[in-house]
Amino acid sequence: SVSVATLVDWLSSFRDAVHEQGTYLTELDSAIGDADHGANLIRGMDAVMGAVAGEVSTVGSAGDLLKKVGMTLVTSVGGASGPLYGTFFLRAATATGDATSLDAAAVLAMLRAGLEGIVARGKAEAGDKTMYDALAPGLDAFASALESGRDVLGAAEAAADAAADGRDATEPLIALKGRASYLGERSVGHIDPGAASSALLLRALADALA
Ligand code: ADP
Ligand code: MG
Ligand code: MG
Repeated sequence: SVSVATLVDWLSSFRDAVHEQGTYLTELDSAIGDADHGANLIRGMDAVMGAVAGEVSTVGSAGDLLKKVGMTLVTSVGGASGPLYGTFFLRAATATGDATSLDAAAVLAMLRAGLEGIVARGKAEAGDKTMYDALAPGLDAFASALESGRDVLGAAEAAADAAADGRDATEPLIALKGRASYLGERSVGHIDPGAASSALLLRALADALA
C-alpha cells in the first residue's frame, strides 16, 4: 500500500519534473497563453516542498499532507493553475481523510476527488483543451488497469501513458477555457500547457511508486 512518505515522494518527483520541464511548459504557454506556466509550477512546488518538509516524521495523515499541499498551491501560485491544482489537492485530501496508508482503490478515489475539484472550480469538459484532457483519460486508464488486475504501480504507469496521449491529443483542439480560449482558432496546433503539466503529475506518481 501507499504510505504518506510515498505521497511525499510523488510531490518531490513532480517538483523535479516541473524544474526539468519548466522551460518547455513555459514555451507551450508562450504560444497560447502568457508564458508563465513553468514558472508558476516551479514556484508552487518549491513552496509545497518547503511546507511539507517534516510531514513524514510528524506522522501526519494523507489528508493533512494533501490539504497542506493544496493550501500552499492556492496561496503561492497566481493565475489559473494555482487554484486549479490547489483544488485538486484539497479535494484529494477530503477523499483520503485520516488514512496513513492507501490501497490502490484509495489512490484512485484520491485522484478522482481531485479531478472533480478541478471540474467544480473550472467547469472544464472533455475536449476544452485543458488539464482535464490529460487527467480524465489518465484516471480512466488507472481504473481500467485495476479492474484488469494490475497493481497500483501498473495502474499508475497506465495512467501516465494515457495522460501523455491525452496531452498530445490537445494539440489540434480549439481552447474553450482559460486564457488560451481568447485566441479561438489560433489556439489550434499547440499542446495545452496544463495538460502537459498534468501528464507530468501522473508520471511522477508512477515514478514514486516504482
Ligand atoms: P494562467 O493562464 O492564469 O497564466 P497557467 O499558465 O499557470 O495560468 O495555467 C494555464 C493552464 O490552466 C491551461 O493550460 C489549462 O490547462 C489550465 N486551465 C485554465 N483554465 C482552466 C479551466 N477552467 N479548467 C481547467 N483547466 C484550466
Ligand atoms: Mg499562463
Ligand atoms: Mg498567468
